[in-house]
Amino acid sequence: LSCMTARINLGSKLPYTNSDILDFNPLDGPSTLRTLNLHGHFSFDDVHHAAKDFGNQYQYYPLAILRPKSVSDISTTIKHIFQMGPASKLTVAARGHGHSTQGQAQVHGGVVISMESLQRPDIQIYTEKLPYIDVSGGELWINILRKSLKYGLAPKSWTDYLHLTVGGTLSNAGVSGQAFRHGPQISNVYELEVVTGKGEVVNCSEKQNADLFYSVLGGLGQFGIITRARIALEPAPKMVKWIRVLYSDFLSFTNDQEHLISYKKTFDYIEGFVIINRTGLLNNWRSSFNPQDPVQARRFNSEGKTLYCLEMTKSFNPDEADRVDQEVENLLSQLNYIRSTLFLSEVSYLDFLDRVHMSEIKLRSKGLWDVPHPWLNLLIPRTKIHEFAEEVFGNILTDTSNGPVLIYPVNRSKWDNRTSAVIPEEEIFYLVAFLSSAMPTSTGTDGIGHILDKNQEILQFCKTNHIGMKQYLAHYTTREDWQAHFGPRWETFMKRKATYDPLAILAPGQRIFQKAI
Ligand code: FAD
Repeated sequence: LSCMTARINLGSKLPYTNSDILDFNPLDGPSTLRTLNLHGHFSFDDVHHAAKDFGNQYQYYPLAILRPKSVSDISTTIKHIFQMGPASKLTVAARGHGHSTQGQAQVHGGVVISMESLQRPDIQIYTEKLPYIDVSGGELWINILRKSLKYGLAPKSWTDYLHLTVGGTLSNAGVSGQAFRHGPQISNVYELEVVTGKGEVVNCSEKQNADLFYSVLGGLGQFGIITRARIALEPAPKMVKWIRVLYSDFLSFTNDQEHLISYKKTFDYIEGFVIINRTGLLNNWRSSFNPQDPVQARRFNSEGKTLYCLEMTKSFNPDEADRVDQEVENLLSQLNYIRSTLFLSEVSYLDFLDRVHMSEIKLRSKGLWDVPHPWLNLLIPRTKIHEFAEEVFGNILTDTSNGPVLIYPVNRSKWDNRTSAVIPEEEIFYLVAFLSSAMPTSTGTDGIGHILDKNQEILQFCKTNHIGMKQYLAHYTTREDWQAHFGPRWETFMKRKATYDPLAILAPGQRIFQKAI
């Protein structure tokens, strides 16, 4: 108890209440965890950083942080908590890089497992016919890229930002401009090692323990902790041609995006974003696009008009430059962008994939990285994207935006419906990501209150107008909302939970299940 009260004095926004303290169960204190025989160790004192995430909106303090040195440390800890049964309130959250935005990797009074501590000595690359890399679940994608490039290889499917862990993105989906071709990251994994909610260590793949494999992929951390992943690789190009063009007409923009993703010999990466009457730094933070940044083209920002930027890359090696120029020209000739707005740059493959980190460095230097991030990520069926855009860009977000708004289509057929990921019913759907930053003390349009209200308006519009939207990186607080999110897949999700984490020990920060006590 003294340990808990010590933390209660750490700050004003702490989550423990008097009733927590009165309810305190000695089984849930540090002494029980101290008895475990581990290669790594628990920290009980410096737990505050595990009560923080990129969203900067939620703050739940754990009892302890486990810094595992082996998979058996994770298994021993979970087994111990599992064996205490409902007598203990303790729950466990794996924390990757803590880049969730709504407390998904936090736990109130339980154990946070710092996955980045789990270094695997056996990080290995296999360069055979189907090359792959074996990595720890706590590995950052940027490290995987650097390592695999040494062999002339790289993963096929990415997120826009690489300072995220394998376990963190595979628990969601992992989507970027390559997903139209390769599917999300969860479609590019051959095998996993998982510690279940009972503390069992299980290898799984399409062929072995397939139900667990597919449960965990996109499973929001509910069924097990990913301790190792075997990621598919492909030959890596050295360079990319990085292209942006602008549209003033949403229909032409989406027609061109859909045309490009349906075309076999197309670009290698296809995304897009919306430019809403702003040219400030926060709006441009993803666009370290030198030497010419299209968003700086103020002459197109006339009369507050909303513009749409199509962003593409074509990969190449230096000896293929001429042929690739020809291919790019041919592809661009099929598009209906505003002709004078073509911006083209050449960068290394590494610099392109790590582009958001460049923006992070800039924002950090201005104190603008560690601000609240009330993000909203939606998946919108193709047949509803125009109705959605008309209302959202025509009415709800007309004169201001507080960060990038991404919009690009992907194909459902590249997603495996055996995984836990929830997506719209149609073959083509759009990822629409409102990546807002809020100014901590502002009560104006860049304040958290205003941005959350706008998010709510967008969600309400989708609901009222039966848009068939699914949230990506979903955040709900009631069982009913989660059930509606999963729809017909809810039964399967619950069955999987009962099989792999029957006491609901894992990832309580997702707020889907509560430990039975
Ligand atoms: P955490 O936030 O630490 O954890 C997320 C969830 O996964 C938690 O519930 C946690 O308990 C669970 N978890 C973590 N590790 C494991 C594990 N090993 N096993 C089981 N469960 C685990 N997403 C995209 O798809 N595409 C993007 O382009 C993209 N860009 C982003 C850019 C930025 C700047 C940021 C901050 C996020 C972005 N995301 C993107 C979202 C990101 O993929 C998710 O938030 C992801 O969960 C973050 O990874 P993390 O390692 O920080 O996970």
